[in-house]
Amino acid sequence: MKTLVELPAARLEARNFIGGAWSPGSGATHERVSPYTGKVLGDLTYATQSDVEIAIQAAHASALSWRRVPIKERTAILLQVRNLLCRDLELLAHSTARECGKTVAEARAEVLKGIEVLEFATSVQNADLGGSLEVSRGVTCEYRREALGVTVGITPFNFPAMVPMWMIPIALVMGNSFVLKASDKVPFTPCILADVCAEAGLPAGVFSVLQGGKEVVDALISHPLVKAVGFVGSSPVARSVYASATGLGKRALCLGGAKNHLIVAPDADPTVTIDGVVSSFTGCAGQRCMAASVMVTVGEAERFIPQIVEAAGRIRLGEDMGALIDAAALTRLSSAIARAQQEGGTLVLDGRKVPPPAGYEGGFWLAPTIIGDATPAMECAQCELFGPVLTIVKVRTLDEALALDARSQFGNATSIFTSSGGVARYVAEQAGSGMIGINIGVPVPREPFSFGGTKQSRFGHGDITGAGGIEFWSNRKKITTKWAEQADKNWMS
Ligand code: NAD
Repeated sequence: MKTLVELPAARLEARNFIGGAWSPGSGATHERVSPYTGKVLGDLTYATQSDVEIAIQAAHASALSWRRVPIKERTAILLQVRNLLCRDLELLAHSTARECGKTVAEARAEVLKGIEVLEFATSVQNADLGGSLEVSRGVTCEYRREALGVTVGITPFNFPAMVPMWMIPIALVMGNSFVLKASDKVPFTPCILADVCAEAGLPAGVFSVLQGGKEVVDALISHPLVKAVGFVGSSPVARSVYASATGLGKRALCLGGAKNHLIVAPDADPTVTIDGVVSSFTGCAGQRCMAASVMVTVGEAERFIPQIVEAAGRIRLGEDMGALIDAAALTRLSSAIARAQQEGGTLVLDGRKVPPPAGYEGGFWLAPTIIGDATPAMECAQCELFGPVLTIVKVRTLDEALALDARSQFGNATSIFTSSGGVARYVAEQAGSGMIGINIGVPVPREPFSFGGTKQSRFGHGDITGAGGIEFWSNRKKITTKWAEQADKNWMS
């Protein structure tokens, strides 16, 4: 099957990349299975507490010299990383698809988005030059950006290449060292990133990869040499990581889960709407924090529902759509669908009935599912399900739709489908999410426009990429200078 990746003949191995070398690994070994087949894909060796200590000490030592490397030289190495990532695009895409169950096309797009952030990072040398101004007679104020030291990124399973790449390039170009705690569900692709960084000439210790779960996260956050923590994952963990890190006086930016509303106005273009809604909730098997989760039809826009159901029903498992990450996700989603029915929802499309693709029977497959006649109080209308499940709520007015969106605990994305500039503008102004789509189902901003939500989709301030990333991964140092006593000095001199 062309859109799925061949599984490797030999078991894959994910270890810890510490101080510029692959550690033999002394922690527990865990198996990972393929989302496509349920068969063993390989093993990962968790980092021990002593691995964390060695990694942080190496990162600290390298940060002291890396911060003194001129930004143009740091950028030159990152440009080489970019070239190698482009060379290895297919390798990375196949690795990503294989371990998190995507199609190759989806995985390729994810790697390219990661490269885009890297390209942004390589432009910082020209875009953020600091600044200085004569603020009073003979007195100059200047700001310059400085590295923080050892920084840490903790990433989720759904984008093994892209989410790490939201953080690594900007943190590195600002002169920090960076320790990635990869998701224990997708440990293999980050190892390729480590090999690429080493091949590009990144000094040992500047970039490290640690494998593991909560214990490794806790050890990293609480380490006194760690100055900043970037996190992307579910809201409960994001909240807890944010509380722990900031409680210890560290800088933290923790992106959480989502429940994105797609509002469809009666005047929406049918083709754009049907394609926008269906590709949003089925892409990456719905395992995207920007995926459509609730479609809110305003008045006569409910006439689009049969066409959306029909288009979603044509999605072929294993060709247009990949698999869920693991058996637990399949069980969780199947139960949530059953509960939606019990709560009074109508199952207008039941993906549980669709068989897995031939040859992939042991994998974790769920075809697109649509729950109609939902009320805002239902679990499927409120909680993040994180799978290819669309809940449809019908309302009479645009303001009712916006009120529904406003009541959500999450604030990643809100989209409006309409032909009216006035309606689009009104939604863009009124909606409380961090990212707004106008006739776009997955409104991920391209760089340099930054990525970040609001409410429980983000704990902390600022965005994780773009200008927000520069701000997060650096300190602004302010320098006020006077070289000579001024005859005409005033009270501020
Ligand atoms: P998760 O919260 O289970 O795990 C994220 C990371 O935290 C992993 O590295 C994991 O090992 C670690 N972790 C898990 N439990 C922990 C604990 N108790 N203490 C400390 N660390 C812990 O998330 P996931 O299932 O891997 O990813 C899916 C979630 O991520 C969804 O909620 C999705 O919306 C969210 N997500 C958000 C964004 C965004 O930009 N807002 C992007 C991608 C994914």
